[in-house]
Amino acid sequence: MALDTRACRHCGVTNFVANCVQDGRPFAITPAHVRGELRSLDDPPLAADPDGFTPTVCDYCAAKAAALPADQAVSIGLRQKTCPACHTEFFSEG
Ligand SMILES: [Zn+2]
Ligand SMILES: [Zn+2]
Repeated sequence: MALDTRACRHCGVTNFVANCVQDGRPFAITPAHVRGELRSLDDPPLAADPDGFTPTVCDYCAAKAAALPADQAVSIGLRQKTCPACHTEFFSEG
């Protein structure tokens, strides 16, 4: 399955994106997701569509599933909507 992409209007990077299968929230996919890890603050954009990777839950749901403290889960949930390259929120742009 090909992943959806969305260009960041701030820095021009094309990011791979998905909607969470659990709560429908959009999130940017980074190499951490492909490795099955939580996205970290400095995780870079995905360079290419990873073969055979199917996005599932967003960072927020993953953080909750990992029983992280609520304030951490919320900040992770905010981060999932930011461009991995420039850290600008890029889902609410037209
Ligand atoms: Zn950007
Ligand atoms: Zn979710």
